[in-house]
Amino acid sequence: GLHIYGVTHSYGSNKVLNGASLTIPAGELVCLLGPSGCGKSTILRLAGGLETLQEGNIVIDGETVANSDMCLPPEKRKIGLMFQDYALFPHLDIMANVTFGLHGMDKKKAQARALDMLDQVGMTAYAEAFPHMLSGGQQQRIALARALAPEPKLLLLDEPFSGLDTNMREKIRQETLSVLRDAGVATLMVTHDPEEAMYMADRIKILGRGGKILQAGSPNEIYYNPADEFVANLFGMMN
Ligand code: ATP
Ligand code: MG
Repeated sequence: GLHIYGVTHSYGSNKVLNGASLTIPAGELVCLLGPSGCGKSTILRLAGGLETLQEGNIVIDGETVANSDMCLPPEKRKIGLMFQDYALFPHLDIMANVTFGLHGMDKKKAQARALDMLDQVGMTAYAEAFPHMLSGGQQQRIALARALAPEPKLLLLDEPFSGLDTNMREKIRQETLSVLRDAGVATLMVTHDPEEAMYMADRIKILGRGGKILQAGSPNEIYYNPADEFVANLFGMMN
């Protein structure tokens, strides 16, 4: 699971987060939803170690990964990452892309693990293909397989499906959910799409300007009991 306690973050004089906290138990998917610039990606990057923590502390799978004294790099955090533009390595075939994070594992074992992941995302037939031969949706499937191959304790997804067309997006959402259910991993997903959050999240956190948490709850709680007009409007936009 993930615990974020009292995280404050500024870029220069721009204070983006002010004491934000967040908990995700293993096996649960939490969506951060909110307007552009409210600090969603900043929270995700802090959890992933892509941004140095300034104040607060972060615990992943029971281990403190960042506090006022130290900040572990991403590769020491038992995390998997997936972004909209998290490109696969173009010069490596799919097998090599998926085994990339498995250094330290015996080569045969790494390949078996990669094949298992490719099977889970329905892409075994493409093990020897190169990324440019795949559609956007197929590339996202590979990115998911790669992110989960090292058996991370926390999966960080930043707008993972926003580059896909509507049909593909709905399909991949479903597939991703079923793969995540099997993996039992804690997942933090950033999106600005309320419908996506409704469909995928166990819990939703809605951020407003300044990283303030406007509401947190299950999708139904938020949909049927929006805390204020801003939240109501956000979900009112869904059809
Ligand atoms: P979006 O929905 O547009 O992706 P977001 O909620 O993910 O937005 P962040 O990327 O966390 O927002 O950015 C929060 C604020 O911090 C914004 O005002 C942004 O301009 C600023 N910011 C983000 N990254 C940096 C950076 N590396 N240097 C300076 N300012 C930054
Ligand atoms: Mg963002």
